[in-house]
Amino acid sequence: MFRFFGTYREANKQQTTNNKQQTTNKPLPTTENSHHKIMNKFIKIYIAGHNGMVGSAVWRTLQAKGYTNLIGKSSQELDLKNQAAVQQFFTTVQPKIVIDAAARVGGILANNNYPYTFLMENMLIQNNLIEASLKANVEKFIFLGSSCIYPKHAPQPLKEEYLLTAPLEPTNEWYAIAKISGVKACEAIRKQYGKDYVSLMPTNLYGPFDNFDLNTSHVLPAMIRKFHEAKSSGNEPVQLWGSGTPMREFLHVDDLAQAVVFALENNLPEHLYNVGTGKDVTIKELAETIQHIVGHTGQILWDTTKPDGTPRKLMDSSKMHQLGWRHQIDLEAGIKSTYQWFLENENRIKEVKL
Ligand code: NDP
Repeated sequence: MFRFFGTYREANKQQTTNNKQQTTNKPLPTTENSHHKIMNKFIKIYIAGHNGMVGSAVWRTLQAKGYTNLIGKSSQELDLKNQAAVQQFFTTVQPKIVIDAAARVGGILANNNYPYTFLMENMLIQNNLIEASLKANVEKFIFLGSSCIYPKHAPQPLKEEYLLTAPLEPTNEWYAIAKISGVKACEAIRKQYGKDYVSLMPTNLYGPFDNFDLNTSHVLPAMIRKFHEAKSSGNEPVQLWGSGTPMREFLHVDDLAQAVVFALENNLPEHLYNVGTGKDVTIKELAETIQHIVGHTGQILWDTTKPDGTPRKLMDSSKMHQLGWRHQIDLEAGIKSTYQWFLENENRIKEVKL
């Protein structure tokens, strides 16, 4: 997988991408309820996984909003699988808010080859964080999962209430079961202790610090790289998998980070929220948009002998929308700035194995 040098990532915490964030997500009205909290900008916030795509976006966004007491530890500094080390860290540091963006993530192949690793590492990481947070009296815990927690054949768009209503997609059930247990742990803490522990389930994410390794990357960064490389070698044809007809939803990671801040600054009334745009595009539309932005003028060849995957995957994010959070970065603008970021960072990525 392509990874970025740690020091470079650190240096880029301050980086604002070309998507200048507008702070148009309004707090929940205080007159009707007590959801919105006036946040002390010095409050100690620990972002677990702050070097990852999601964690680094959350860090940038909190910093841009004036939060000054952010804590991050790399996996080398603090292995979240180690319960004693995590307990010790919480006792010493005493964060007031915890955002869990740390996880063992990977594609179908990795999930399939390492089912125990995906199940157990994710449960260890999240259990250690959740338990230590409860013991250390952490006020707010935000747990991040993904749409794979929902049943394989659930109706579209996916609603939060479909959780645990039917079997999962078998290829990533290991990861999904770990994530479901994290959602349930937060729900149970809410129920038993009345604490504000909440789970956010983002749709497909993209943006700075994404994985551009063609062996393990998601469709959007893979296409950026393929079109870029084909353009650089004289506009060679680009071959893509399937028919191009499946529909997918994409959210810029900076928009997810805004949703995390929204969840942090408001007491959300429920334990589980989907976070998406509510709009999906066909893979063909996505390819043509990326081709146009990259400036590739060659052919697109669709290899219809390759599988299409599920015909549609769209989340119902109306609960978050009703509360007041909405995405701000449309797909075209998001792809433009991500491509720009890719160009600026192409020579700084290195390949390491999972
Ligand atoms: P990344 O792989 O980019 O980042 C994960 C981070 O977790 C890494 O920075 C890593 O730290 C940290 N980590 C992993 N294992 C350990 C460990 N044992 N101890 C300490 N830290 C550890 O993942 P993403 O940012 O993409 O994903 C974060 C979350 O967002 C996940 O829960 C994922 O399910 C969710 N999500 C992601 C989507 C996507 O499209 N990317 C879509 C939907 C949800 P280090 O770098 O220091 O090793």
